[in-house]
Amino acid sequence: MSEREPQFLPGASVKLTGLKSNASLNGKCAVIQPKEEWPPHESRIAVRLEGGDTRIAVKPQNLVLATEEATSACCFICLEEATGPTAAPLLQTGCGCRGTAGQVHELCAIRAAAAEHERAGTWAGKHPWQLCATCKLPFTGALKLALAQEWCRRTEPLARTDVQRFAARTTLSNALSAAGRLAEAETVVRDNLETATALHGAEHRHTLGTTLNLGLLLDGQGKHKEAAHVYAELLRAQERVLGAEDRDTLNTAMQLAGASLNQGRNAEAESQYRQVLETQQRVLGETDPATLTCSMNLASALLNMGRFFEAANPNPNPNPNPNPNPNPNPNPNPNPT
Ligand SMILES: [Zn+2]
Ligand SMILES: [Zn+2]
Repeated sequence: MSEREPQFLPGASVKLTGLKSNASLNGKCAVIQPKEEWPPHESRIAVRLEGGDTRIAVKPQNLVLATEEATSACCFICLEEATGPTAAPLLQTGCGCRGTAGQVHELCAIRAAAAEHERAGTWAGKHPWQLCATCKLPFTGALKLALAQEWCRRTEPLARTDVQRFAARTTLSNALSAAGRLAEAETVVRDNLETATALHGAEHRHTLGTTLNLGLLLDGQGKHKEAAHVYAELLRAQERVLGAEDRDTLNTAMQLAGASLNQGRNAEAESQYRQVLETQQRVLGETDPATLTCSMNLASALLNMGRFFEAANPNPNPNPNPNPNPNPNPNPNPNPT
């Protein structure tokens, strides 16, 4: 993978792909940030999501250059080329597959998923509607959306509390959200929240996760006050159920800070970010992606307030000398000749 890295130059347009912990971002476009923003100790690249100020640090294998995508090719299932006015369009699979292996007809992909589902007898072992059979990574973008819609259609007759029916709708809401269709995603998520509460109870991880999704969708639609309310309630529940230092709890606390920032409450956001960051540094470590993301968000809050100097170093290390090199001989050869 390292030979790919030099192609990722600051300012280049990229698409996110194959992310596991942030799977909802797969298929989103982003712009590579100046190298000063790249985390120093890890082979991660800082990118800013298009249409907002969200910055994250990702591995090179989770990025595809926008220019790399525009190659004409054929469907990897039926091998027909997408040429001529009557040809069905090809969709990007958005998984880890590249080039011709990464393009498919919607109908071919649906048939393949349905056949695999039937062969396995259950969706749960192989996740044919969600995972690429070749690279085992989740589909993203338009293909994810098309498969999720078909999967929802097929699971519609099942009981509302059926686990597979719920999973299909969770996938659909994520795909709609990634496609920027946030109002439609919100409708699906609100419905899912009722189902999750009935299925698992109010304090189950799935219910809490669905609540977070609702907050993110509200935030994304500019309903920041409503989002902050959802995050605050969720945070109380997570502190109770998971504890204040759990990764998910900390993420919600960071989202709540983001909602404050989006409402223009900069000082409040700063104090919330600093509190989260302090815990993340202690519990997750300095170079954890979540810690780095929070640090970048804090820098955005400081920039908003015009505190440029602090923004350049938003994260004064509480343990500034983890690898001491006191340089015992600072001037070894003051007079070489
Ligand atoms: Zn095909
Ligand atoms: Zn694949």
